[in-house]
Amino acid sequence: MKRLLLLATGGTIAGRAADATCLNDYTAGAITADQLLEAVPQLQDLAAISVEQVANVDSADLQFQHWRALVRCIRDAFAADSDLAGVVITHGTNTLEETAWLLQLLIDDPRPLVLVGAMRPATALSADGPLNLYQAVQVALSPEARGKGVLVVMDGEIHGARSVTKIATQGVGAFRSPGEGPLGWVDDLGVHLPMAPATRVVPFSALVLPVQWPQVAIVYGCVESSEALIPALLSAGFEGLVFTGTGAGQLSAGECRVLEAWDGPRPLMLRANRCGSGPVHPCDHDAQLGLLPAGSLNPQKARVLLLLALIAGVDRAGLANLPI
Ligand code: ASP
Repeated sequence: MKRLLLLATGGTIAGRAADATCLNDYTAGAITADQLLEAVPQLQDLAAISVEQVANVDSADLQFQHWRALVRCIRDAFAADSDLAGVVITHGTNTLEETAWLLQLLIDDPRPLVLVGAMRPATALSADGPLNLYQAVQVALSPEARGKGVLVVMDGEIHGARSVTKIATQGVGAFRSPGEGPLGWVDDLGVHLPMAPATRVVPFSALVLPVQWPQVAIVYGCVESSEALIPALLSAGFEGLVFTGTGAGQLSAGECRVLEAWDGPRPLMLRANRCGSGPVHPCDHDAQLGLLPAGSLNPQKARVLLLLALIAGVDRAGLANLPI
């Protein structure tokens, strides 16, 4: 029988409410990894699953130390067991896409690495967690998912880590991959990944994650944006900034002026956008202000990229040339 590792981190998939009709008032990260497995006995027919409880928190409360522990567990497990078929990570949906992208940039192994969550707590009527977990395991065990990068399985769809994002606060179909669509789907007939890319680049596969991480902030663009935040953040020691620019990643004139006037060390800075889909292209001002366009990365994923780039000591030119 194939062997699989389940790493549990909490979230609504491990959420418990007082009543089966409670969909909003519940405690995330209240059910253990073993209990998640017990709720889906059909998994026993698929694989021998070992579990590790890396955390049991709402994903809004994840810390860099959790990411560090997760990366260590995955690297150690793949290195120690050449027969391990794959890894499934249960995770809160709110920041699942950030962890998926972090792992996509760090873990270089063809064996499937699949993240899964749920929109309804485990105690709910029609909880979506059990089927999502079953399908995540199906994907992680499948030859189709090998070498396809970090995958996210939700509501029968399989998404790629780079594009996937949570687009709704409610409902089981809360994940989309804007501009790209899902890479495939999973059902009782198997795993189908017709849209998965044939190759992938893992720019930080050798990166050792430190205890202390750099600080990177996200600054949100809007009418009369809070440009005073920029020098305040930089004076406070933030080494990276992501601008959620308006439209195609545009900064206001005031934000540009503040950046031009800043005479301290220049942070690593990316311009993303708040539209939710579409690219941010280079523009004439970028070099002068020390900015780089974030391409099609959303702001929270651009921040993950900056965190790793800062840890790796990559400068602005290196970041611009990173093959991601
Ligand atoms: N609050 C939850 C979280 O941990 C939401 C979810 O998992 O759906 O992100």
